[in-house]
Amino acid sequence: AEMFGQLTTGLETAWNKLRGVDVLSKENIAEPMRDIRRALLEADVSLPVVRRFVQSVSDQAVGAGVIRGVRPDQQLVKIVHDDLVKLMGGEVSELVFAKSGPTVILLAGLQGVGKTTVCAKLAFYLKKLGKSCMLVAADVYRPAAIDQLKILGEKIDVPVYAEGVDVKPAEIAKHGLEEAKKKSINVVIVDTAGRLQIDKSMMDELKEVKQALNPTEVLLVVDAMTGQEAAALVTTFNIEIGITGAILTKLDGDSRGGAALSVKEVSGKPIKLVGRGERMEDLEPFYPDRMAGRVLG
Ligand code: GDP
Repeated sequence: AEMFGQLTTGLETAWNKLRGVDVLSKENIAEPMRDIRRALLEADVSLPVVRRFVQSVSDQAVGAGVIRGVRPDQQLVKIVHDDLVKLMGGEVSELVFAKSGPTVILLAGLQGVGKTTVCAKLAFYLKKLGKSCMLVAADVYRPAAIDQLKILGEKIDVPVYAEGVDVKPAEIAKHGLEEAKKKSINVVIVDTAGRLQIDKSMMDELKEVKQALNPTEVLLVVDAMTGQEAAALVTTFNIEIGITGAILTKLDGDSRGGAALSVKEVSGKPIKLVGRGERMEDLEPFYPDRMAGRVLG
């Protein structure tokens, strides 16, 4: 409950106002619904998402009637829970693997979001699923990023393909994929350059790398601390280069929840994995139902 602490507390205010009522009604949910709206906005959930969510929950609550053995406040909690799950995509969105040959996963993201760390974490995660992996260092603007990837690769015993900083990223990626094919590697994870902000050259380069690889997954790494801005980024990258999903990092920090709750609804693309720490073990699938459970405390 740490992560969404403030949101959880805000929602509790809503339930508490329904103690002692016999049945949910338009009148008695008005104030709790305002509390829910406020809590979501304070958690940095995107405004259109909040509006739709509150409308949907209100409609269901008013028509809920009396359920024997279930208090009205519990009924509202259940409605909110189920709508939160829906908001986050419902089911777990699994990684897709290529039917034949190596699966290529292209990772994109702005600088500092945890992309390089995610590359290694993802390889570590897939290794545990029995897949052999290779990391490809196509971030040619920061020599430190290549070194960092090599160090992480060594740590988890996964080969890292690099050609230094003088070769074009699309070329490095292509060569890396050829190498992986020769070695019958199952999954190739490609680290690309991040910038401080979106710019045209970054998008053009990503398009080139994507074209050279024909990847199975194109995942945008976003930082949970950036709230609804993360959802906007997923939208932009999807429009610009076409992505298959997002990876949300730093869920262990004091992020308020806006990113987790906004990405799917705003961008149409699912969050597939979440990072919740700096260790290699700290990457897991994004489970909408567990996440909703955490929001509700
Ligand atoms: P990049 O610039 O996107 O490649 O980011 P890095 O992978 O270098 O990560 C930037 C910083 O964020 C590093 O100090 C990482 O250890 C840290 N980091 C990455 N993922 C997480 C996470 O899930 N939780 C926390 N707390 N820190 C993370």
